[in-house]
Amino acid sequence: MTESLASALLDQLGVAPGVRSSGSLRVRSPVDGSAIARLQSHTAAEAAQIIGRSREAFAAWRDVPAPRRGELIRLLGEELRASKEPLGRLVSVETGKILSEGLGEVQEMIDICDFAVGLSRQLYGLTIASERPGHRMMETWHPLGVVGVISAFNFPVAVWSWNFALALVCGNAVVWKPSEKTPLTALACQAVFERAARRFGAAPANLSQVLVGDRTVGEVLLDDERVALVSATGSTRMGREVGPRVARRFGRTLLELGGNNAVIVAPTADLDLAVRGIVFAAAGTCGQRCTTTRRLIVHESVKAALLARLKKAYAGLPVGNPLEAGVLVGPLVDGGAFESMQAALNAARAEGGQVTGGERLLEDEFPSAYYVRPAIVEMGAQTDTVRRETFAPILYVLGYTDFADALKLHNDVPQGLSSSIFSNDIRETETFLSARGSDCGIANVNIGTSGAEIGGAFGGEKETGGGRESGSDAWRNYMRRATNTINYSRELPLAQGVRFDV
Ligand code: NAD
Repeated sequence: MTESLASALLDQLGVAPGVRSSGSLRVRSPVDGSAIARLQSHTAAEAAQIIGRSREAFAAWRDVPAPRRGELIRLLGEELRASKEPLGRLVSVETGKILSEGLGEVQEMIDICDFAVGLSRQLYGLTIASERPGHRMMETWHPLGVVGVISAFNFPVAVWSWNFALALVCGNAVVWKPSEKTPLTALACQAVFERAARRFGAAPANLSQVLVGDRTVGEVLLDDERVALVSATGSTRMGREVGPRVARRFGRTLLELGGNNAVIVAPTADLDLAVRGIVFAAAGTCGQRCTTTRRLIVHESVKAALLARLKKAYAGLPVGNPLEAGVLVGPLVDGGAFESMQAALNAARAEGGQVTGGERLLEDEFPSAYYVRPAIVEMGAQTDTVRRETFAPILYVLGYTDFADALKLHNDVPQGLSSSIFSNDIRETETFLSARGSDCGIANVNIGTSGAEIGGAFGGEKETGGGRESGSDAWRNYMRRATNTINYSRELPLAQGVRFDV
């Protein structure tokens, strides 16, 4: 079923049949587990050639004025609007997320293109008062060169577009190594971009290139000194390998790694809002968002009421084929994800946790796919299992009586991506957002932890890697800063009053 659908969508999106029918990389749809394409992985030597071509593209692209570069991204946004339906559907087929979220991911790409077009006229630096008479200081921003993007399976296209749209208006060229689980959507994005580039007319060849393969192909980007920035999204394990390896050659990294996001529900919380916010963020996307809510820290006075409502909502969640209308929770990405989920649930049980849900569903209909009932696990303490990110729909529930303890529990995990508090007590909400509150890169009030907009900077602290992508001033990651001092006088005074008379 999914094979013919994927094939029709790829035809529609303009991916040539020849590139998806042979090779050792088998792509499977999580919807039914069937193989939907076969691709040839690039070798290390081919990857090096691709980087070389990217470097040439950069050399030409950096001379194009930034607002003109923005025009190419404006055209990419138009092409994405025209391709939203098939690309969103392909995202659902390849990742297993529900169609509304697949389409939402493409909308996010369109949004970042719009943002980047405006940005292309706002790449400005400061002018700074000089201590020397007749002198002026200023900052100028220049492109970095080749940007390598390594992306995860769960946001196969949006994360690329956050990097790509900004990197391109900033004057860089991009080499993209998508997840080996989701290379088809990457090929589709490349086809969409090529249509935009043809309409633009004057774009150098190879501004955008896709590297197909597993981590070994990605590793070429880490070691090649022609790659100025490696922007890598994925697990903390991956980031631990990528960061030091790129640092060895003093390359730059932008790391967007795992999260272990919590929601605090206080006694004054609007429980209707809290239930909706938590169920979407904890069970939606089958728990496979970096911003998924994995921990619920709830005041003892509302714990029983909230848990009863959450359990009822979980029991009624429509789990099934993500392409069907009405389904809210699709499958896990593969059998490995299912095993990790079961291992975490067993570990939590051994630590005294009480598990509701978590079992496999629809095994008769989809024997090669992994559908599950999202799980709620009541824990007596924040154990090692709770402190780890398991990329599956498991919501650990912890009670609290004192707000200071809730904050302590909240921050006592190695990750620091997203967080939120449901409360109508301004002292609590403001404390949560203050320097002694949430230690995450994203801190929300009365909304869940997931579903960020592109306008804000996205990313997190601690083991989440510290990177910021998407909105605000994240563009600075894709440029280098030069400080310029200009002397328009006939003297040559030295800074700090130093005398050196020759
Ligand atoms: P993963 O770490 O298994 O793989 C991510 C990408 O890294 C893939 O393209 C993979 O081929 C590549 N890779 C892995 N090891 C590498 C290495 N040593 N050198 C070079 N490349 C390497 O992650 P995944 O299972 O695809 O995605 C899920 C993880 O990603 C979760 O931990 C999730 O929280 C995280 N994630 C984070 C964000 C964020 O913005 N913080 C967004 C999405 C996903």
